[in-house]
Amino acid sequence: MRMPPFTLHSPASLDEALEIASKLQDAKKEFDWVAGGTDLLPNYKWHLNSKKNVISLANVTELFELKATHIGAMVKLHELVESEVVHPVLAKAASMIASVLIRRSGTVGGNICLDTRCYWFNQSEDWRESIDWCHKCDCGTEADCRVIPNQNTLCVATYQADLAPVLMCLDATIHLASSTGTRSMQLTDFFELDGMTRNKLRPGELVTHLTIPKDSAQWEGDYQKLRQRESWDFPEAGVAVMWKMNGKNSPNDLRVATTGLESIPGFHQSQAQYALEDWNGKESIKSLAESIRKAVKPVQNTWYTPSYRRKMARVLTKRACAGLLEDSK
Ligand SMILES: Cc1cc2nc3c(=O)[nH]c(=O)nc-3n(C[C@H](O)[C@H](O)[C@H](O)COP(=O)(O)OP(=O)(O)OC[C@H]3O[C@@H](n4cnc5c(N)ncnc54)[C@H](O)[C@@H]3O)c2cc1C
Ligand code: SF4
Repeated sequence: MRMPPFTLHSPASLDEALEIASKLQDAKKEFDWVAGGTDLLPNYKWHLNSKKNVISLANVTELFELKATHIGAMVKLHELVESEVVHPVLAKAASMIASVLIRRSGTVGGNICLDTRCYWFNQSEDWRESIDWCHKCDCGTEADCRVIPNQNTLCVATYQADLAPVLMCLDATIHLASSTGTRSMQLTDFFELDGMTRNKLRPGELVTHLTIPKDSAQWEGDYQKLRQRESWDFPEAGVAVMWKMNGKNSPNDLRVATTGLESIPGFHQSQAQYALEDWNGKESIKSLAESIRKAVKPVQNTWYTPSYRRKMARVLTKRACAGLLEDSK
């Protein structure tokens, strides 16, 4: 598994990074951004859609800021875990990502923009050649998708990053920059339902930071994750539930988001709103959990079966709601 050769660019500022990107685009040269490299570089070693140019964000100091309401794209996962200003549920989700070693290199921006995963794709080049490739990395063969064949337009690889559902429940806004300017959007609007496009980033654009509303401290909640090995695996299902109490016995706002179940993380607004109507503690949680099971539509491209992952979405939702029963005592 040899790394394919590429030219590494190491800008020292955001302006310089965007200028390099713009020049490469003008010269019609494809490139990737690299942050911690814990996802991109293993993919390069497996010759998965590698590019001839890579722009490192390691020295772009503008991207490193961390405050309760501002999380720079280059903030390390380990920093989220250790920080005293980060929301505790976000710190918990970060602590469940991969291993300590990976968390010391892996970043927030890299986690949000993580490539989607599929067991027909995350394999060595020899392995993929032996099955005649697949649509996401077809090596010029126009190979079909192996999960949903006979369509060859859509990749249904799974989004398996842990931070997005918690950040969605915290109502995060994502901020992007390119040589033509900056723009922002709700994180819930950032993802694209295609395992290849993945998100709304335009060519030459990067994530600079995320912002979290000031009232996030008033939101309580939990993140629950299903994985094969507790030591470091990607989520086979992940559920974040967050709520704001009304000072009485019921929540007056509730948010639920999932990961590891589809090509994009899911934000389940209608299910949460329905559960809030006539809130009835345990019974409401039970029907909310069942509605999340029904809402998610995993396909067979990760370790566990789709039906097990759906059932576990229900179980994880119930577990993530446990604190709601405590709060309403
Ligand atoms: C063994 C192993 C286990 C893992 N387990 C988990 C897990 O349990 N949960 C989980 O969520 N992840 C897991 N990961 C994936 C990965 O380590 C983390 O998601 C990490 O946060 C990725 O961050 P990075 O900085 O290393 O990203 P990189 O590898 O540098 O980049 C990842 C992708 O994001 C893009 N990118 C990076 N930064 C930006 C930016 N600022 N703007 C635009 N695009 C950008 C890159 O171009 C690339 O496409 C695991 C990885 C390994 C190797
Ligand atoms: S979902 Fe289909 S196209 Fe996408 S990686 Fe898997 S087999 Fe390939």
